Amino acid sequence: LPLLEVKNLNVSINNNEILKDFNLTINPGEIHAIMGPNGSGKSTFSKVLAGHPAYSVLNGDIFFKGSSILELEPEQRSHLGIFLAFQYPIEIPGVSNEDFLRLAYNSKQKFYNKPEVDPIEFLSIMNEKLQLVNMSPIFLSRNVNEGFSGGEKKRNEILQMILLDSELAILDETDSGLDIDALKTISAGINNFMTSSKSILLITHYQRLLDYIKPTYVHVMQNGQIIKTGSANLAIELEKKGYEWLN
Ligand code: ADP
Ligand code: MG
Ligand code: MG
Repeated sequence: LPLLEVKNLNVSINNNEILKDFNLTINPGEIHAIMGPNGSGKSTFSKVLAGHPAYSVLNGDIFFKGSSILELEPEQRSHLGIFLAFQYPIEIPGVSNEDFLRLAYNSKQKFYNKPEVDPIEFLSIMNEKLQLVNMSPIFLSRNVNEGFSGGEKKRNEILQMILLDSELAILDETDSGLDIDALKTISAGINNFMTSSKSILLITHYQRLLDYIKPTYVHVMQNGQIIKTGSANLAIELEKKGYEWLN
């Protein structure tokens, strides 16, 4: 059974049709990279998967673990195992990272009728996860993303993804603006997260991320559609020749 199946999806925002007969199937254990020029609809696709309310699905369907998720709220999709890391992580003044992460964790526990964890139990869970992304426990006491550097925000996202143990992680330009050390740390965190039952959808402009996270497939998006699919080598070819070469 595919983890994600997107069939003939047409999506609009403000009466602009952005995705046009978009199709994509992701099986457990696969890493898919989506590349493509600015404005091709990559972020739109990721937000539609997460259930962003601004987008209208005009036609088609999205199946996750075999069931349509179109009618589900973003929170329900998240509980089912879809994780979206935003291109621009938000700051939440006055809320500590620790409280934020514990709320997210307990909300998922509740959804599956599992016991909520108390702050002390939670800290012991977190200590193990923090090491996977090379983050200091000090981050837990700081407000969500407030004053975090670009690299710290991205590591914080990977931390959330690992904590929630989602099956489908969607990372939209998680590599943008990172220096090489942060890129390596984040890639290691992502590779640690990956198992044969999970999948990752990586949206990126740059081939360099794919030096660290080896994609099963690389797709090129243009004008709201996937116009080409290939192996990891396609990303290397794109780096050399640019997107124009495909037209
Ligand atoms: P990408 O992530 O590939 O750069 P996006 O999904 O962000 O592309 O954008 C795809 C297209 O959707 C662009 O042409 C953009 O202008 C348009 N778009 C995005 N948000 C809106 C909006 N709120 N209203 C109208 N058009 C939008
Ligand atoms: Mg863009
Ligand atoms: Mg984008």
